[in-house]
Amino acid sequence: MSPTVAIIGAGFGGLCMAIRLERAGIRSYTIFEKGPGVGGTWRDNTYPGAGCDIPSHLYSFSFERYSSWSRRYPGQPEILGYLEMCANKYGLRPRIRLNTEVTAATFDESLSRWRVRTPSGEELFDVVVSAVGQLNRPRLPDIPGMSAFAGASFHSARWDHSQDLTGRRVAVIGSGSSAAQLIPRVAEVAERVDVFQRTPNWVIPKPDAVFGETARKVFRRLPFLQRGYREWTYRYAETALYPALAGRWSAGLLRKRALDHLRGQVRDPELRARLTPGYPVGCRRIVIDSDFYPALTRPNVDLVTEPIVRITPAGVETTAGLHGADVIVYATGFQTTGFLAPIEVTGRGGRRLSEEWKEGAEAYLGIAVPYFPNLFLLYGPNTNLGHNSIVFMLECQAGYIMGCLPYLARRGPMEVRPEAMEAWRRSLERAMDTMVWGAGCTSWYKNASGRVTNNWPAPTTVYRRITRAPRPTAFRFAGRPVRDSGGGLSVTS
Ligand code: FAD
Repeated sequence: MSPTVAIIGAGFGGLCMAIRLERAGIRSYTIFEKGPGVGGTWRDNTYPGAGCDIPSHLYSFSFERYSSWSRRYPGQPEILGYLEMCANKYGLRPRIRLNTEVTAATFDESLSRWRVRTPSGEELFDVVVSAVGQLNRPRLPDIPGMSAFAGASFHSARWDHSQDLTGRRVAVIGSGSSAAQLIPRVAEVAERVDVFQRTPNWVIPKPDAVFGETARKVFRRLPFLQRGYREWTYRYAETALYPALAGRWSAGLLRKRALDHLRGQVRDPELRARLTPGYPVGCRRIVIDSDFYPALTRPNVDLVTEPIVRITPAGVETTAGLHGADVIVYATGFQTTGFLAPIEVTGRGGRRLSEEWKEGAEAYLGIAVPYFPNLFLLYGPNTNLGHNSIVFMLECQAGYIMGCLPYLARRGPMEVRPEAMEAWRRSLERAMDTMVWGAGCTSWYKNASGRVTNNWPAPTTVYRRITRAPRPTAFRFAGRPVRDSGGGLSVTS
């Protein structure tokens, strides 16, 4: 009998997991989605200019290659359309429960099953797969007076489309990836845009290109070309970008590329100085955009670098004075280090995940947590990337979880051993030592105590290798103990 699986979230991760289950003939799953549609990130981020910064031929499922991308880096509507198409094509819709937030998940030891709670009640499942993403809860800054602002204000991931920005004074707080995408579009229509920057980011050009009808036809008719293009994009990210983040041969080249980009696009040396980061390239998320700097040089756009003191009813006050505004856009990122929060997750022995993770979230392979049997995470701790496609990581994780299902079916609930977790922690720390994220910068990759809880510190080829199949000796099984056959145990999914 197939296990019953609760999947939390219907973004790239949740859909990937469901498709893998469908393809294995397992239909005993439910996707709980708190939002009104599928798509996760790509349903929520509808700000003008929203798009990916990994080419979509790579930022899409390997098993569902799509030849119709209209450009190299398509916008949000097209990526959302792709995910909706996947949900339809693989017949996932009947098992997706929209507008249904999971508020708690508790492992019932007497039943060896999870009690999954939503506002409409509690249901039992054998397995819980979290696919809640790392960037799904907007983070608003804590600036005095925010609620007193007389105009409209909203977060970039909750864009208020009822606000026409034409001819208005817009304050954008933040200058990261979302800000860089939306500022050029807003500046085209607004009377004035004030961009409030706390820390400059490294910016490299986005080599976007339109795929015309001919290119699309070629990709459609000659699928090997599309496969080759995808593979080339992947290899480039691994061989040229990853070493820069590991402080190796391409770090200097990447820095030079970013500095050349800045010099080429911003002529004013004073503005250039304020846009030049004082930390190594890659320490914070690199902004990939060719329109951001030109937008900052428009006569109706100002880069404000004085610290914000408060928000007043009339606008944003910095140490240098008041910047009047009609609309404030908070492009201030996401609550990235809470992972499954605010879901109350309780495992064996009444252990609460929030307590286990109070020093920082961690999971074996980013997927499994000791004392939480049959709980698997997609895009969990230390699986975010600064250089390649998250979809690649999600596919590795979904494949690994599929590999776990036969074990738990035969041997009972499986839970990663604390010793395996400890060994994992040590190897992760060793790998992390070489990465640029530890350098003196703040970033969403780190928790409050400065530990990098979000990023994966090795090539993704390594991640693919170690997640290819579960190692049963790393797990404790609640049923008959597994016999270690030196890794030769043959289990098929
Ligand atoms: P999400 O897409 O965040 O989906 C999580 C889903 O879980 C959401 O639908 C949410 O509503 C739901 N959910 C959360 N909590 C609950 C709950 N308690 N109950 C029920 N449902 C719940 N990555 C790249 O690799 N390349 C890029 O170019 C790129 N660009 C990005 C641009 C933006 C603006 C943002 C915000 C992120 C970008 N990312 C990019 C990262 C992106 O988040 C991931 O690539 C990917 O979309 C993650 O998918 P996911 O399914 O894991 O999470």
